[in-house]
Amino acid sequence: MDRVYNFAAGPSTMPEEALATAAREMLNYNGTGMSVMEMSHRSKVYQEIFDHTAALVRELMAVPEDYEILLLQGGATGQFAAIPLNLLGAGRSADYIDSGNFAHGALTEAKKYGDIRCVASSREENYRRIPVWNEADFNPDAAYFYITTNNTIFGTRYATLPETGKVPLVADMSSNILSEVYDVRRFGVIYAGAQKNIGPAGLTLVIVRKDLLGHAQPICPKVFDWTIMAEKGSMLNTPPTYAIYMAGLCLEWLKKQGGVAAIEKVNVEKAKLLYDLLDESSFYRPTADPASRSRMNVTFTTPDPDTDAAFVKAAAAHGLANLKGHRLVGGIRASIYNAMPIEGVRALVRFMKDFETEHR
Ligand SMILES: *Cc1c(COP(=O)(O)O)cnc(C)c1O
Repeated sequence: MDRVYNFAAGPSTMPEEALATAAREMLNYNGTGMSVMEMSHRSKVYQEIFDHTAALVRELMAVPEDYEILLLQGGATGQFAAIPLNLLGAGRSADYIDSGNFAHGALTEAKKYGDIRCVASSREENYRRIPVWNEADFNPDAAYFYITTNNTIFGTRYATLPETGKVPLVADMSSNILSEVYDVRRFGVIYAGAQKNIGPAGLTLVIVRKDLLGHAQPICPKVFDWTIMAEKGSMLNTPPTYAIYMAGLCLEWLKKQGGVAAIEKVNVEKAKLLYDLLDESSFYRPTADPASRSRMNVTFTTPDPDTDAAFVKAAAAHGLANLKGHRLVGGIRASIYNAMPIEGVRALVRFMKDFETEHR
């Protein structure tokens, strides 16, 4: 069977070129006579693979030297706990914006470890927009301020970032990291699970400003302690070796596309193809507020749930896979991360027009 256009939210489509290289190198990496999966993480050859991936992250995101790049395990969900455990010293408090289900999960988890305040929420509107915030509500003495830059389930994105002054901004970028240019200096911590826009699942990227290290709570598990992990080059224990190698191949591909600024232009164009169609149609209805629209996850419905289901099924038969929306929103979700080619989005647009003609 041919490859399909895979619109899954995560794990998600990866650059074909990266997969082909991995296939070629599967049994014998670079004359070592073994697969990357079979190598000691303490070997020289593996250290080079690790350093290459970390260096590509630094280069592509222009990460300044006073930030550590950590390649960890435990997923974004692990970091929901690691963030307060690393940043929330005794007697301190942190501010959160509740913009989606993952933001809510982060907030709930953090409450186990300290004093957490929710300063804005769109939960009552089923997260159809990024909540409106009022800077007067921010705690100027907070240990950190937490946001989720792209809300994967609801298809929303911060068009502007909150101004938090001296309070470090901590961002879950799991579903839009490397898809648009961010100035890393605006953040104290950026983190992401890899399985949407970096590479395969199993790897968690944490970028942390060095002055924020050294404040972990005594109960912080060692594997989640950024300070210890930074000292150990992310190898306190065995890192997710193969996922790090695969991420390196995906980042090489991204570099070849011209890097983040170049892919951002393509991403804007891809999203526009879909939103233009949704705005012109009286059959499809976009579910996210226009001012909060994501470029990575486009959410919409047809006139009724039965037609949504028929849409997902017919699309799959046309080689357009995994378009079913998340159960919290229903309808349809097209995840169009970096590795989704614009041809895939064009094919989806053509299918949507034909489907509308047949079902109107
Ligand atoms: C997918 C996702 C998560 C959860 O990631 P895991 O790696 O499965 O823990 C958290 N936040 C956002 C924004 C996501 O898209």
